[in-house]
Amino acid sequence: MKNLDQLTSSLHPSPLNRRNFLEQTGKGLVAATLMGSVTSVAGQPIQGPGKQKILPSDLVPVQLKPIDHPSEKPEAPPPTPAPPEKRIGFAIVGLGKLTLNQLLPAFGSCKKCKLVALVSGNRAKAEKVAAQYGVATKNIYNYQNFDEIKNNPEIDVVYIVLPNGMHAEYTIRAAQAGKHVLCEKPMANTSKEAQQMIDACKKADKKLMIAYRIQYEPYNNLAKQWTRDKKFGKVKIIEAVNVQNTGDPNQWRLKKSLSGGGSMPDIGIYCLNTARFLLGEEPDWVFANIYSTPNDPRFKEVEESVMFQLHFPSGTLVNNVTCYGVHDSKRYRAYADNGGWFGLDPAFSYSGLKMEASQIMEEKEYKLNPSMEEKDQFALEMDHMAMCVNDNKQPFTPGEEGLQDMKLIEAVYKSAKEGKPVQLEKITTLDTFRGSKPEKS
Ligand code: NAD
Repeated sequence: MKNLDQLTSSLHPSPLNRRNFLEQTGKGLVAATLMGSVTSVAGQPIQGPGKQKILPSDLVPVQLKPIDHPSEKPEAPPPTPAPPEKRIGFAIVGLGKLTLNQLLPAFGSCKKCKLVALVSGNRAKAEKVAAQYGVATKNIYNYQNFDEIKNNPEIDVVYIVLPNGMHAEYTIRAAQAGKHVLCEKPMANTSKEAQQMIDACKKADKKLMIAYRIQYEPYNNLAKQWTRDKKFGKVKIIEAVNVQNTGDPNQWRLKKSLSGGGSMPDIGIYCLNTARFLLGEEPDWVFANIYSTPNDPRFKEVEESVMFQLHFPSGTLVNNVTCYGVHDSKRYRAYADNGGWFGLDPAFSYSGLKMEASQIMEEKEYKLNPSMEEKDQFALEMDHMAMCVNDNKQPFTPGEEGLQDMKLIEAVYKSAKEGKPVQLEKITTLDTFRGSKPEKS
């Protein structure tokens, strides 16, 4: 691995590509039409062959005449896929479980981006995946020649799906290569690395988004809306659980240099990030306890269990449980002060989320089970990144959102070590670290 400080100090200004050229000249459409055949500035290719921006008119659904009675639940509108030649090109770095099982299949549901390149240390695996997903073999890179992506105008965004301890290096190298970055959670091993990633992307004038899929998922968004609208009154208590039984003691998740920690940064982060998302507030203190089963070979370097409480300025208390040594459960419930509670179980899984609410009306208790069309969470987040690049907007979950979680995780560890609550920086505005709202899908 390259030294991060070496990487950040060697940053150079971003090359002028066709998209930021158009933004800088402010001539948008006219220029896009006029420049359809322009291929070089100072002899360098400046953008994918003939690629144009996705325009709002590309995303208008084909209208069909409704045939159901108006009282029926409306059907989902037809999809609005952007033409392939206008889609934002993604390179995926790391062909592990998340990439193979979730991300590559999710491109099938994406409407605004497409897979164009792969980065892997295993050429044979990469060639097989490239053949399955129609990626040109010339667009397969490895960790040594990764920086050559700067010469590939098909790649707009680099999606980092590597062990946590490698996120900072590859984010910085991608920014130096003039590419936007979507990075998996947790953002990095430390807040220092997270800050370096933000600085590198800013210096290169590239976007940085952290892949918090829950913030793009419809049921969790309904829970956020109910929290913010006080549907059942003020949410005073949230309890959140994300636990699972980790296997192979030799995996990178149990090596501190590659993971940054145990259950806390890997799965506890869902409890932390979702509470912040629901409330829109930032906690003002945290109090944590950590315990690992003695002599369990899995927990020599990283923690097994963390229980941590967050207090938010409006008075909401959040109790969180995360563990690497018990059977899988991923849920939360929010308790409000005017006749209701609501929550999801499962809440953090890739699919099959279920929402439940209890409401007292006229002295009777009603159970609600809202049902919505299931959306591929990874397609939603990747399309959001694509639109932010296309429209030059700050992602809803930018690097700053990831950095805040890293600071809070460090506060969790500090509290557990010192055995007392840790006071946090007072932040009084809502959604301080979030960017432009995701478009309706
Ligand atoms: P994985 O172990 O399945 O894949 C990691 C990939 O990195 C593999 O292809 C591996 O070959 C490669 N790699 C390169 N150098 C490596 C090294 N030195 N040691 C180990 N692997 C190395 O992991 P994963 O489950 O795909 O997780 C990857 C990232 O995605 C992590 O940051 C993880 O937190 C995140 N993740 C996010 C979600 C989500 O729901 N958003 C779910 C799972 C994982």
